Amino acid sequence: MVKSLLKKLCLRLLLMLPNDRIYAFHNVSSHPAIELTSRKLDTQAFFSFIRRHGPYIPLEEMGQPKRPSGRAAVTFDDGLEDVYTIAYPFLRQENVPFTIFVLSDKLDQPGYLTTAQLLELAKDPLVTIGSHGTDHTRLGRADRDKQRHELLASKEKLEALLGRPCLFFAYPFGSYNEITLELMRGAGYRLAYAVRGRPLLPGNHSDPYTIPRLSIDDSTLVYYDH
Ligand SMILES: [Zn+2]
Repeated sequence: MVKSLLKKLCLRLLLMLPNDRIYAFHNVSSHPAIELTSRKLDTQAFFSFIRRHGPYIPLEEMGQPKRPSGRAAVTFDDGLEDVYTIAYPFLRQENVPFTIFVLSDKLDQPGYLTTAQLLELAKDPLVTIGSHGTDHTRLGRADRDKQRHELLASKEKLEALLGRPCLFFAYPFGSYNEITLELMRGAGYRLAYAVRGRPLLPGNHSDPYTIPRLSIDDSTLVYYDH
């Protein structure tokens, strides 16, 4: 109890410094029409969070910080429909670049982006598309063949659809193991992202395949929204 309170306090203090941060969002509505994830964030809270936590740069420009600059990048996991219907119009109006990590086998399923929506998003210079695997497998518990499939089949499908290289990957549940990292090195991704409750401090993402992100939803907002 004391330990967890201390951890929250330390995190809060860290986040008050001008660190570089990568935010990971899922649903941007507390009551989506279809419940696909427990990671939900009230729409007004999302708008207000974005307005108060910039300036934003594209994820791919977020290099290893030599010293904290206070910049942030916005990412969405799973490729949920409300990224298109709610987040996109707002982020376009605010001129905020963002990245969507898509589950390639979930396209066109209820609650997820349609292929047409994904193509429209991908045309916008503000938007980068990355892979989140094919079906939300927890890679850290999957065997080598399944892991290889998750890294490669999703990449191939997205590249064929979008006609450009897919260079970024986000691990479902932030889960990976030694096999994942070994496969990652040969899979053709430039960078891969986990979910860990810490900002990009100088030196803490020296491995390009385990870059930390902060997951923002109704349950974690209280720690980050100072
Ligand atoms: Zn996910």
